[in-house]
Amino acid sequence: LASREVSEENTVIKVRGVTIGADQVAVIAGPCAVESREQLMKAAQAARRAGARFLRGGAFKPRTSPYSFQGMEEEGLKLLAEVSEQTGLVTVSEVIDEDSLERATAYIDILQIGTRNMQNFRLLKAAGQSNKPILLKRGLSATIEEWLMAAEYIMSEGNQSVILCERGIRTFETYTRNTLDLSAIPLVKSLSHLPVVVDPSHATGKRELVLPMTLAAVAAGADGLLVEMHPNPAKALCDGPQSLNPEQFLQLMESARPVAQAI
Ligand code: PEP
Ligand code: MN
Repeated sequence: LASREVSEENTVIKVRGVTIGADQVAVIAGPCAVESREQLMKAAQAARRAGARFLRGGAFKPRTSPYSFQGMEEEGLKLLAEVSEQTGLVTVSEVIDEDSLERATAYIDILQIGTRNMQNFRLLKAAGQSNKPILLKRGLSATIEEWLMAAEYIMSEGNQSVILCERGIRTFETYTRNTLDLSAIPLVKSLSHLPVVVDPSHATGKRELVLPMTLAAVAAGADGLLVEMHPNPAKALCDGPQSLNPEQFLQLMESARPVAQAI
């Protein structure tokens, strides 16, 4: 169902009047984790000011260590809904199991399945029964074939609104958090009709690499971007070192615009 053979036309996903997969590059920005009303509102206003139409923020955080901040859970979902209502931004938030999926459905526009859950087949099937678009991140060490098969799990249950997200893969390199697989963008777009967005934040783990990888992703044909941005990255409870501040995010948007339209 995800295959290019099924459709020559690119899938365009429309949420509350905003598209992903059409001509305009869809920009999803916001903090790794929702931390407070004030933090989220500041991030949302900065996102909107710079021209992004989507707000991200994790409420359920699948952290590597069980002792790290695990997210505000339902309180975080409520804040996302509230801030979305006030700013008009379309929301994206991660679900980590069937329970969080059910709870997020009441508050969130686009449900994210994270890299660690790309092959959580029960969760994929549950997402396939959801009426929300699913942003499916590529697994930490997943091949493109495995990633497309994960999309197939969702689509075969009935949900055709899948957005693929390249977020870097694990390689032998340790200077970056992951290695951004830029070639996956045109390759997946040739294999599939689904939109492909790129997350330069988790792909690199380093703030100073987010802008150059954004430009490269847009040049390679990405349908969208997912960028971590925090009003005060030094104080972020999660992923501060890869988060842009509002000013850096504004600069990123201004630098990316000409690349999206011309060489
Ligand atoms: C995130 O988007 O904050 C996240 C946890 O991403 P990933 O699943 O790609 O690590
Ligand atoms: Mn993060």
